[in-house]
Amino acid sequence: MLDSIVDNLPVGVFVKDMEADGLYVLFNEACGAIVGRDPFDVLGQSDRILFDDKQTAIFRSQDAKALMAGATISFEETMQRTDGVPRILRTVKRALPEPEGRTPRYLLGISQDVTEERSVEARLAYMAMHDALTGLPNRAFFADHIQTAARGANAENPLALLYLDVDHFKHINDSKGHAAGDALLCQVASRLTRLIGNNDIVARLGGDEFALLLRLDGREAVECFAERLLKALSVPFDLDGANEHVTCIIGIAIAPEHADDDDVLMRHADLALYAAKESGRSTYRFYRSEMRLEAERRHLMIVELHDALLKGQFELHYQPIVQLDDDGIAGFEALIRWHHPTRGLIPPMDFIPIAEETGLIVPIGEWVLREACGAAATWPGHLKIAVNLSVCQFRHSKLLSTVVAALNDTGLRPDRLEIEITESVFLADVEQSLPLLRALKELGIRIAIDDFGTGYSSLSYLRAFAFDKIKLDRSFVAGIETDPGNLAIVRAVVGIGSGFNATTLAEGIETEEQLQSLRAEGFGEVQGYLLGRPMPLQEAEALIYRGTDSPVSLSKC
Ligand code: C2E
Ligand code: MG
Ligand code: MG
Repeated sequence: MLDSIVDNLPVGVFVKDMEADGLYVLFNEACGAIVGRDPFDVLGQSDRILFDDKQTAIFRSQDAKALMAGATISFEETMQRTDGVPRILRTVKRALPEPEGRTPRYLLGISQDVTEERSVEARLAYMAMHDALTGLPNRAFFADHIQTAARGANAENPLALLYLDVDHFKHINDSKGHAAGDALLCQVASRLTRLIGNNDIVARLGGDEFALLLRLDGREAVECFAERLLKALSVPFDLDGANEHVTCIIGIAIAPEHADDDDVLMRHADLALYAAKESGRSTYRFYRSEMRLEAERRHLMIVELHDALLKGQFELHYQPIVQLDDDGIAGFEALIRWHHPTRGLIPPMDFIPIAEETGLIVPIGEWVLREACGAAATWPGHLKIAVNLSVCQFRHSKLLSTVVAALNDTGLRPDRLEIEITESVFLADVEQSLPLLRALKELGIRIAIDDFGTGYSSLSYLRAFAFDKIKLDRSFVAGIETDPGNLAIVRAVVGIGSGFNATTLAEGIETEEQLQSLRAEGFGEVQGYLLGRPMPLQEAEALIYRGTDSPVSLSKC
């Protein structure tokens, strides 16, 4: 019965007779499975016969230790099974007690095969430190490593940290699918790996962010490396047979020149990356102390922007839009201004981008909509109000209900509201933006494409969505008299407008000559300083109601 119990134990149990050269006197089934032998062949044999010299020596030294210790010893060991496959064993050994203080004769061993356990553990440890997609070290690995690396950096032995970002990666992911996005990241990873030295590290920090830690001597060497990197990444990527060009940006900080601790080094590389991103093209930037000041300024502005809405520091100015068939006012464009308590009037371009980055544009945009609709609702019924919406508002699921609520609460007829968007709305996420635009249009709201001709100028979105109005960017108006290229574009836009049945508007009219040319080319509407600057509500209303109850045309002003 005892034999049967011992043979059915899930762990290997063996007993050696130490007075007879360590011959096995007990060797259960599980032990046989571990070493790959029939237990009957093992009984009566010693390690010397069963294993090679090296393995025998190891076993014997452990046996000696157990005998000397007079207690249980436990350890992990690697051994080769008879078929040559290495196994990891967790073993405990102890001498069996003899009566009356006699020298122990029998040695009991219990062994467990922990090979699978250990390999799962090793795999988990690897996965915890590596990125599953690219196989590169991940953020945790990088965080571990940069700490020691930064501490070890000195003037003779500097450390360069490069943050690399694939610009507009989200766009590729959204437009080409996640498989293409994954393929792109893997190709970027392998190009980076090929360029770095043996002691350097490249890690994927997440998304489209990579970090490189390099032991390069001197700023020139880092510059040279960054250029090689950008060159390697400028070669188009193969995404399912299609060539894809991407913009890659790099921010660089060097220890100890820019920072001597890992946290500061990372923050500074991040600031440099941010500065590189601002340039809008594939480039690299080294950290400079001005970047920190700029970041502090931005941070302060974010804090103040949070307050601005609560403290009622925003105001809308209204710029007249003139229709050229009768030179009357067609409506106004609402343009936001920030009355800063110490810095005076701040133009939108100085704070809208920050509001967009922080998501504050959502509540600010909601305020703009309500304010603008509320004002327009009191005007004569033929006047329209144009409101600029930012791409971030389109990403926010509440947009449609916000617009509906603004119309309902102010009582403005939907067809009097004109929403201006730029083509970035299409770059961001077409699948989300298009249905939203269609839903807004179905409510009767007019949709205008703003700053037409700038940005990527892909014409495909004109086919994807039936815009009610095309607003030609003012940069094309500026050189219309002198630059024949601009005139050609102006004409083409009139053609596109009539082809798509959309009103054409020219922005930024500053001179009488520009007005005459655009009139001659057949534009439907114009807007610009010549016809009226953006003005406070009171002035806009004075213009609407000047002298009479009915609106007057600008040409008669
Ligand atoms: P935009 O929508 O293209 O607005 C036209 C901009 O051109 C306005 O600048 C206006 O003052 C300016 N402008 C008008 N006529 C002329 C002209 O004859 N010459 C010149 N040089 N400029 C002219 P502003 O008010 O500084 O606004 C700049 C941009 O800020 C706007 O460009 C729009 O994209 C954004 N923006 C303004 N208000 C809002 C808002 O409430 N929400 C959002 N999301 N963006 C806004
Ligand atoms: Mg606009
Ligand atoms: Mg514009």
